[in-house]
Amino acid sequence: MNLAEKQTEFDFKIRRKGDPHFLLMRSGVITTPHGRIETPAFIPVATRATIKGVSPEIMHSLGAQALLANAYHLRLRPGEDILDSAGGLGRFMNWNGPTFTDSGGFQVMSLGVGFKKVIAMSVEESSTAEKLAPKKKEQLAFIDQDGVTFKSHLDGGILRFTPEISLEVQHAIGADIMFAFDELTTLLHSRQYQVESLEVRTHPWGIRSLQAHAELTKKRAKKPYQALFAVLQGANFEDLRRQTARYLAHAQVDGLDFDGFGIGGALEKERLAEIIGWCADELNSADAEEKPRHLLGISAVSDLFSGVENGVDTFDCVSPAREARNGALYTPSKRINIKNAKYRADFTPIDDRCDCYTCAHYTKAYLAHLIKSGEMFGATLATIHNERFILQLVDNMRKSIQNGNYQEFKEQFFANS
Ligand SMILES: [Zn+2]
Repeated sequence: MNLAEKQTEFDFKIRRKGDPHFLLMRSGVITTPHGRIETPAFIPVATRATIKGVSPEIMHSLGAQALLANAYHLRLRPGEDILDSAGGLGRFMNWNGPTFTDSGGFQVMSLGVGFKKVIAMSVEESSTAEKLAPKKKEQLAFIDQDGVTFKSHLDGGILRFTPEISLEVQHAIGADIMFAFDELTTLLHSRQYQVESLEVRTHPWGIRSLQAHAELTKKRAKKPYQALFAVLQGANFEDLRRQTARYLAHAQVDGLDFDGFGIGGALEKERLAEIIGWCADELNSADAEEKPRHLLGISAVSDLFSGVENGVDTFDCVSPAREARNGALYTPSKRINIKNAKYRADFTPIDDRCDCYTCAHYTKAYLAHLIKSGEMFGATLATIHNERFILQLVDNMRKSIQNGNYQEFKEQFFANS
């Protein structure tokens, strides 16, 4: 089988490119075997093949074009074989559109200290092993040059993730877009550690992911093609970000190359735009301009603007749903805490300009009551609002790029906020 031919089942076309203010910005269409994604787009996270408390039909009505699930969680439960037997992730969860899975690396490597941007890890058999942070919690993940060994958060059993295992799991889960297995570094790691991480782990792991992907694509030739994105690391260092973009853009195994790129890892918020700009610029120079770019785990409003302006096509993040469940609700001007006493008797919607189901039918007072009482319906209503807020914002960015009035849209958005 000709793998390069199979690869054409996945496609990305740029429709509109550049803007006098933002040369790297673009809008386009990703085509997958399960449908299209108009970009830029926000991809809500359905960690365990569900957005907690909200049905796929509602997510569709909120404007979600695709959903992203988590390979680590689905491997632990129900097991990737169940998703494979069901006909893949989309069919399993009754989502009739494109799907993504992440490689599992982020969850595996952050097991010791939770889901923070700054994550401490220990490295075995490494000449530059560094003790980087006080270990208050038990270390649950250990990295070596071949992969990561970790303790299951469900039953404490010892498990292993390698590029080959991650790709096997992701192929069985069956999402349209998958990510290569990489090492997640943190801003606490030294430059020397970042260099070693790229050379000894992230780059070879990228090639091994591509190799496993080529073999699995051949083996599963009758299944729809699943695209594989490389992950660009390199923290805050321009030369490392550019080097990794160049290296992975040129990587090829059996005529198969990466279908797109994830920008991941340690990002200093103040320098987010600059860092993404380096990656985008380097990908353009490496003849990889016509491949989609995904910014991993980002949904803060200012970061979405920075990402889009610097050539990011898709974003994912758990925050809109997670914060909603905790009572943090998004409005154009600020994030409000619905549990605050001042909302107890506030009979207005969360945002009177919002077009979501929650704002059309329910008041802040009712939401405050539900969230404080731990009622499931409160989490559902709050999640609907936050997901709609972010989906609509990115949709409006896309429309304004297509209409050539992005700058106007942005000024208006911040003037109203
Ligand atoms: Zn709303």
